[in-house]
Amino acid sequence: MKLLENKTALITGASRGIGRAIATVFAQHGANIAFTYFSSEEKAKALEKELSASGIKAKGYKSNAASYEEAQELSKAVHQEFGSIDVLVNNAGQTKDNLLLRLSEEDWDAVIETNLKSIFNLSKPVSYIMLKQRKGSIINISSIVGMKGQAGQANYSASKAGIIGFTKSIADELGSRNIRSNAIAPGFIETDMTEELSEDLKTQFLAGIPLKRMGSAEEVANSALFLASDLSSYVNGQVLSVCGGLNR
Ligand code: NAP
Repeated sequence: MKLLENKTALITGASRGIGRAIATVFAQHGANIAFTYFSSEEKAKALEKELSASGIKAKGYKSNAASYEEAQELSKAVHQEFGSIDVLVNNAGQTKDNLLLRLSEEDWDAVIETNLKSIFNLSKPVSYIMLKQRKGSIINISSIVGMKGQAGQANYSASKAGIIGFTKSIADELGSRNIRSNAIAPGFIETDMTEELSEDLKTQFLAGIPLKRMGSAEEVANSALFLASDLSSYVNGQVLSVCGGLNR
């Protein structure tokens, strides 16, 4: 059964990792896919080709999630090209880890702007489109560190905690118009982002995970599929942890 037929999904940061897996799983379920990338142009072109070959409409847009202006242009361009935006996945994110005493203002601002301000930048114009459609699902990718904190990630954890407050607030604002807003809080997922961690830190993390393994990008994507589809039609304002039991 295809769960997203005749729907258009806009996914940010889909050139790699979790975003790429979400685009792939959504396309397998019949959605047309608009996605963004920032620096990985070749990977984005390859994804566009791969998705299009599966018979759905797919287009990659180079758009800096941290830019308010670029988000307004993106939303307009996708709406014009695809005719609707039924699902928005705010996934683009980055880390610039350091202990507080060594954390620069530049690295604080960069992470807050890419991870948190980005959600405001794009949810605002897309929710305007969804309001007119009287339907929509917004999925924001937070993190379990947004709930529990993590030494060396004050900037990242703050951005991910902010996403949860934002998600719950707009769930309240937009719910009466049949627009749902939920967050996913992944735990320790195998992507380029976690590849950078030291072996010591990985061993330490794994010890605390009841399932005793890292998660895959596809496992996060399957949760996003649930929140994007009508299977979750009464789920609004929630945070779904996908973390092997790490956060409970
Ligand atoms: P990743 O492999 O590093 O991929 C990050 C993606 O975000 C790339 O496609 C990248 O695009 C895009 N991106 C980064 N900055 C951007 C910007 N300014 N504008 C537009 N796109 C931008 O990361 P990931 O592990 O898949 O993470 C995806 C999301 O899940 C992030 O929000 C992350 O915080 C969250 N998360 C990940 C984990 C984990 O364990 N991996 C855990 C919890 C939460 P380009 O390559 O084109 O620049």
